[in-house]
Amino acid sequence: MNCSKVAARVYQYLDNEGMAWQRRRIERHINGCVDCTEVVQFERQVLDLVQEACREEEVPPELFGRLQTLIDKERNGELD
Ligand SMILES: [Zn+2]
Repeated sequence: MNCSKVAARVYQYLDNEGMAWQRRRIERHINGCVDCTEVVQFERQVLDLVQEACREEEVPPELFGRLQTLIDKERNGELD
């Protein structure tokens, strides 16, 4: 398992899809890798915001603003 393999499977991992042993391999890599930990945390926040948006009948504009801010921060490498 390496960083690019984890990146390719991050949504599968966050959605609890795939075989248990595959998820364990991903998890083991993430636990030892700061970069992948950040990627997973970022993608999880984005998923949370998207799920929040899906629950709303009308998506509030500030939600798009929060998503955009998050994505901009990630692009600029400002995310903790
Ligand atoms: Zn990694």
